[in-house]
Amino acid sequence: MTDHAAIRRHLARCTPCRWLTQHALRARDPVIVEAALRLRADHLAADEEREAFLRRPAQHTPQGRIDR
Ligand SMILES: [Zn+2]
Repeated sequence: MTDHAAIRRHLARCTPCRWLTQHALRARDPVIVEAALRLRADHLAADEEREAFLRRPAQHTPQGRIDR
């Protein structure tokens, strides 16, 4: 969960995390830093879940066919 590339990717597209991180660095307020880290950790966990879901192998599609 301390994957810096994943953090950079997330910050590039998540406005609230980006704002909170910048604000925390500027304010040097431990409460805001803690909030920024917590929000980012939650979001990164959600990102990982979504990526794992998208990476999962397709189910029951013999010969690449999609049965409906
Ligand atoms: Zn975020």
